[in-house]
Amino acid sequence: MIIDFHCDTVLKAFQENSSLAASSPSSHLDLRRMQEAGVKIQFFALFPGISSYLSPLKQALILGDYFWEQYQENREILQLITSRQSLFQVMDSRKKGALLTVEGGEVLEGDIRMLRVLYRIGVRSLCLTWNNRNEIADGVAEMQTGGGLTNFGREVVKEMNRLGMIIDVSHIAERGFWDVLEISQAPVIASHSNSRAVCDHPRNLSDDQIKGIAQKEGVIGLNFVADFIGAPGGGMEQLVRHIDHICDLVGDDYLGFGSDFDGTDNLLAGIKDVTIYPEIISYLEKRNYKDTTIRKICSENCLRVLQELL
Ligand SMILES: [Zn+2]
Repeated sequence: MIIDFHCDTVLKAFQENSSLAASSPSSHLDLRRMQEAGVKIQFFALFPGISSYLSPLKQALILGDYFWEQYQENREILQLITSRQSLFQVMDSRKKGALLTVEGGEVLEGDIRMLRVLYRIGVRSLCLTWNNRNEIADGVAEMQTGGGLTNFGREVVKEMNRLGMIIDVSHIAERGFWDVLEISQAPVIASHSNSRAVCDHPRNLSDDQIKGIAQKEGVIGLNFVADFIGAPGGGMEQLVRHIDHICDLVGDDYLGFGSDFDGTDNLLAGIKDVTIYPEIISYLEKRNYKDTTIRKICSENCLRVLQELL
């Protein structure tokens, strides 16, 4: 059983006007292939990437509308997770679970009420920034200016804690990262980031950041984008280097998956789509990873955070 912290499938399906149940062959993920791959819960991001002519908030709401339309059509096989109760319902049924997230706090347009509006339409996690600067903080593309959380960003963190939303620190510049860890009363996740010690990329986490997330009892979702894994052509072996490194550093309680499916044209060589998961598991087994560790990485660590936060 797999829980995956991040995909951009809603945007992709919206752009291709395809169904979440069975989308186009060029996509990485749909409900049919989730079943095949053993993915039980998928986080679906609303990423405002439709058109720069529309405000980020409007784009997120359009994608939210599209998700809800798809959700209504697939109620027999899909359950939106908005509470601990609905999480348990999913776990006790044959249905797949969907957790709705927003990628990029610019959708709030500096207004805390928009966070609550998103919560009311089912959003349970917010990636505070994308790569750029927004009203909350700087993204990794602004790293050199050293900007951290703004006053509004602090308000957002506190309100997310109060509402029981999952704070996501993938994409945020380092200063803001540490501000979030200091202020948040709850565990935080980095939904789709890897180890910078293994692959030196600004989207990845330093060892100190990984330790920081572990100290907060959060989880890091392993990303399958080739640029964040490093060593082009390194294949599965290179992916496992990130797993080895993070487990060596902080143990096996803080790692999960956050594929970034449908958010990239540049997946690691050998990964075609979501159906890769069984292969990853058997690869870890061959590498003598303990069953308990594999189960933690595949789902139990994420489940712990969901149970605690929702
Ligand atoms: Zn992303």
